[in-house]
Amino acid sequence: MEFTIPTRLRDLAARTRSFIEQDIIPFEKDPRWGAHGPDEDMRQEMNALARKAGVFAPHAPTEFGGLGLGHLDRAFVFEEAGYSILGPSALHCGAPDEGNVHLLEVVANSQQRRDYLEPLCRGERSCFAMTEPGGAGADPMMMQTTAELTEDGYVINGRKWLITGARNASFMIIMAKTVGLGEQDGATMFLTRLPREGIVIERDMNTMDSSFAGGHSVIRFDNLVLQKEDILGAPGEGFKYAQVRLAPARLTHCMRWLGSARRAHDTAARYAASRHAFGKPLGEHEGVGFMLADNEMEMRSARLSLQQAAWVLDQGERGTTESSMAKVQCSETIWNVVDRSMQILGGAGITDETPVERIFREVRGFRIYDGPSEVHRWSLARKVLKQAGRNA
Ligand SMILES: Cc1cc2nc3c(=O)[nH]c(=O)nc-3n(C[C@H](O)[C@H](O)[C@H](O)COP(=O)(O)OP(=O)(O)OC[C@H]3O[C@@H](n4cnc5c(N)ncnc54)[C@H](O)[C@@H]3O)c2cc1C
Repeated sequence: MEFTIPTRLRDLAARTRSFIEQDIIPFEKDPRWGAHGPDEDMRQEMNALARKAGVFAPHAPTEFGGLGLGHLDRAFVFEEAGYSILGPSALHCGAPDEGNVHLLEVVANSQQRRDYLEPLCRGERSCFAMTEPGGAGADPMMMQTTAELTEDGYVINGRKWLITGARNASFMIIMAKTVGLGEQDGATMFLTRLPREGIVIERDMNTMDSSFAGGHSVIRFDNLVLQKEDILGAPGEGFKYAQVRLAPARLTHCMRWLGSARRAHDTAARYAASRHAFGKPLGEHEGVGFMLADNEMEMRSARLSLQQAAWVLDQGERGTTESSMAKVQCSETIWNVVDRSMQILGGAGITDETPVERIFREVRGFRIYDGPSEVHRWSLARKVLKQAGRNA
């Protein structure tokens, strides 16, 4: 066991930290940052600064201009990126693009690597369309969108919602159930460039968060016609590929949001050290001091848990259980840390005088997307019971 952080990684994390502090935090007051994320002009401007600072696309393969970091290495850099909720957009390492890079790296054929993976690594935006109103959600098996094989190709019909980044994305990964392939029928992933006839963005959803470029949309597939070459991987293997995407993608969410939780905690700690009440600094009242101590301890445990899960992925294993446990631990810790930080800040915490209220709105969704906490616990409990049954 070795806990020493290699110097090159320590340096890159430090560089990312100062880049976020000096170049990106000032954008938090930019009027181009609206309810549905930073606009395209602002995103491109931040990306250009990240390229100049040598911190752009840390996860992307070096052949496509990225820094080629492995899963564990990302933990150090992504946490620093998350210190501003605009950081992941600036470094182009936010959801859903970063998860899509990993999926395409593993599954795409050489043509698709050229057409989709390379432009994505170099700065294009993408989206991943799986969740449906009334259909696929916590239980993806409820998928209703169909891709029917006809003489013209695959004809896709259905509706999706909560699709992050769909507005102005350059391409989309679609999950649909094939019909007409016999034994190969099942969940299948398709790739298509946007905009395209047959794909209608019905509306943008108003959500608590605002850091994801493009927001979250409701999409309709209206006799969208795609071809065999547009299938990502093999037909019927969509759920398997979704797992390939999900384990690392949920860990990188943990990393980024942990950085935001640390920012909230730092803000609260500074306030608790300087603000006085009842004759002494707030932090010297046990009720406040203990909240700060709990924040420190829980962030440390969450960080170690996600780093260990990332290490498992680096060993070439699927890491389903480890990433699932880390996801629950991190999403709940992050929520508790930000909530305590808000409490320590008193009335100011509720206002936009500090970054905490925005972080608070941003992190709530993380206990739901990438698998709700209850589903992870339920699945873990089933494994525990299965093991207990074997040992009985
Ligand atoms: C900000 C945000 C961004 C998103 N981005 C995308 C995206 O880009 N692409 C995409 O495809 N989807 C996206 N989603 C959708 C997300 O993946 C789903 O919201 C999530 O999978 C849950 O599905 P659902 O909303 O349909 O909830 P439901 O399936 O309706 O579940 C509701 C609740 O039921 C409970 N529950 C469900 N199953 C169980 C169980 N077995 N045991 C106990 N309790 C259970 C849980 O508390 C759960 O929260 C996003 C969601 C959010 C909030």
